[in-house]
Amino acid sequence: MKRLNTIYARLPVWAQHGAITAYGLYWNRLRFGAGFEDYVAGFKEREQFSAEEWQGWQQEKLRDVLRIAATRVPFYERTWSEAEKRAAQAGRLSELPLLEKDPLRRDPESFLRRDIKPRQRLVSHTSGSTGTPIASYRTAEEVRLSMALREARMTGWAGVSFKMARATFSGRMVEPNPNSAGPYYRFNYVERQAYLSPFHLRPDTVASYVEALAKHDVQWLHGYAVSYYLLAKLILEQGLTVPPLRAVCTTSEKVTPEMRSVMERAYGCRVHEEYSTVENVLFASECESGRLHVSPDAAVVEILREDGSPCEADEPGEVVATGLMRDYQPLIRYRLGDVAAWDGRECACGRKMPVLKEVLGRIEDVVIAPDGRRMVRFHGIFAEQPNVREGQIVQEALNRIRVRVAPTKDFGAADVHDIEKRMQARLGSQVEIIVESVERIPRTAAGKFQAVVSLLHDAGVKEAERTGVADSQLN
Ligand SMILES: [Zn+2]
Repeated sequence: MKRLNTIYARLPVWAQHGAITAYGLYWNRLRFGAGFEDYVAGFKEREQFSAEEWQGWQQEKLRDVLRIAATRVPFYERTWSEAEKRAAQAGRLSELPLLEKDPLRRDPESFLRRDIKPRQRLVSHTSGSTGTPIASYRTAEEVRLSMALREARMTGWAGVSFKMARATFSGRMVEPNPNSAGPYYRFNYVERQAYLSPFHLRPDTVASYVEALAKHDVQWLHGYAVSYYLLAKLILEQGLTVPPLRAVCTTSEKVTPEMRSVMERAYGCRVHEEYSTVENVLFASECESGRLHVSPDAAVVEILREDGSPCEADEPGEVVATGLMRDYQPLIRYRLGDVAAWDGRECACGRKMPVLKEVLGRIEDVVIAPDGRRMVRFHGIFAEQPNVREGQIVQEALNRIRVRVAPTKDFGAADVHDIEKRMQARLGSQVEIIVESVERIPRTAAGKFQAVVSLLHDAGVKEAERTGVADSQLN
């Protein structure tokens, strides 16, 4: 991927549209190929389940996954006791140990089934919401299944579809040049999808983003919540007119009430929030009534107290998930590092799928470039950095960023150079990058990991305002 990105960066813009489309063709077959429509129908059918039907369906699927883990996956075979293996065979989830991210990060292949050698295997190296790089392995069928889930319960509930033209804000490299004069998107003609660059949003580029939506008749928006929020703020500030849109389906960051209201005013349509993880081990989406339903056919989700007992409704606790759509690399009682609470009230939509009241602690700080661009998702800088155990971005000034790295023993000068290069590609070469090795990334008073920390405070905000930025942080 690194090499592909380098080649891509050297192409002229027209060839980049072509490269994105060729890439889009590959993904289109993978995501929407054989079996997709049947999977969508299955997800829609199960939405009619009663609470008892859900319980029965889930318990049966859970027992399958646990049996696979106990008998065919090296990590669990090695670490579970005999009593735990017996509990797994019987489907008794609460007797199994919690799984940390670290063993998965250290040896992701020990989580793969021994008895399956898929023809096509998709690996996504991602830094996750904690900055810890993790390799996720999925089969083509599993990728398709997760897209079908989104078509049924994300776009479906929002009244749109992946068949309609869309725009996407994601971590993809879209425009490699930080000083580009535009365009700030590339178009995938196969799926009629405009990939927007999250790294070039600023007052003097916003009109060009809006033009791209109109030019390609975009019907709905998909991707990073904070990027759509920042775009929306600029649209309102400049009084720009957005072409008619049907929905905004957000991912990645939590949507606060303020973000929601700004986006709904700017885009003139409803915002539907998705809560999921990079490891694809849990899925929740917002229904027509505005409630966040967990999909019981995607995962068994537990919210636990510190002593491991389950929380009551309204009581915040740690989210632990057991994926039911990932037989190939099963994750059992996986600690996500998020805090959430159940909502005990029935939903007006009538679906008997559990409702999350709120998910806390997933908002990430914004990094500001010297020219005023506001950027999010900076922990992506650590993707495909196997020698970085944990990483954190600290913005100390508009022109100075400290990158704290908790390294593995193989971390060296080449890794430092790579991090500097990636940071400067996003921010420009005038920003000083200090890479600092630390034993451990400090946690907040509440014990949360922060992928991005901004120390700009008031002075930084004022300087940012001078360069055309309204505020430096979301909260
Ligand atoms: Zn509902």
